[in-house]
Amino acid sequence: MSSKPIIISIDGFASTGKSTLAKKISKNLGYNYVDTGSIYRAITLFSINNGFFEPDSIKLNLLKDALNESSFVLNSNSNVLYFNDNKLDEEIRSHGVSEKVSIIAKIPLVRSFVLNQLRLLKIIKGLVIEGRDIGTVVFPNANYKFFFNASIDTRVKRRWNEMIKKNIKISKTKIKKNIILRDKTDKQRKISPLIVPKDSIQINTSNLTIEEVFDIIMNHLKQILS
Ligand code: C5P
Repeated sequence: MSSKPIIISIDGFASTGKSTLAKKISKNLGYNYVDTGSIYRAITLFSINNGFFEPDSIKLNLLKDALNESSFVLNSNSNVLYFNDNKLDEEIRSHGVSEKVSIIAKIPLVRSFVLNQLRLLKIIKGLVIEGRDIGTVVFPNANYKFFFNASIDTRVKRRWNEMIKKNIKISKTKIKKNIILRDKTDKQRKISPLIVPKDSIQINTSNLTIEEVFDIIMNHLKQILS
C-alpha cells in the first residue's frame, strides 16, 4: 500500500527566497516542486495576450470561459508545469506581468480554478510547494509549513539582481513600488489573503544565505525524514 505523500509548504512575501529554497529542498529530497505564483502569472500573461484587461476592469466572462477549458499539468518527472500543453516560459516573470498578477490573483473564480488544479496534481513521493495561501487554504494539513519574510530593501535587491541577470533594465524604485503594491493587494484580498499560517515556522531570510536557510529547514524536517 502506498503511503500518503509528504507535503511541505513555503508561503511568504515576494522575493524572500521561496522559489530558490523550495527547488533546492525538493531536489535534495527527491520530491516534486510547484511554484504556485507561476500559475497566477501564466493566467495573467494569458489574460494580457487575449485582451481580457480593460483600462479599469477585466472581461470576467471571457476569462471564466477560457479557464473552463484550461488546465495546468505537472510533469512529475521533470517538475515542469504546462498550461494547456504549453510549458510555462520566462515571459511570465516580466515586469508587465508582475504589475497585473495580484489583480488576477484576487478574482474568486481564478482562485477556485487554481485550487482545483492544485488538488489534481500528481505527486510521486512528496511535494514542496510555495506560494501565499498554501499552508492556510491549499494544503492546511501539510506536514511542514514555513513562512518567509525579509526586509523590503533585501527583497528589492534580490529581484533587481534577478532582472539584471536576465538582461532586463529596470529601476529599483519601480521594483520597490511593485513589491509594496503586491504585498498590499495580496494581504488585503477577501479570498485566501496572504497571512502567516498559525502552525508555520517563520524565517526572516534578510541576513541569511541560501545555504543557511536550507540548513534551518532541513533541521526541522529531520523528524519526518528519519
Ligand atoms: O510568487 P510570485 O511573486 O511569483 O507570485 C506572483 C503573485 O501571484 C503574487 O504577488 C500573488 O498575487 C499571487 N499568488 C497568490 N497565491 C499564491 C501564489 C501567488 O495569490 N499561492
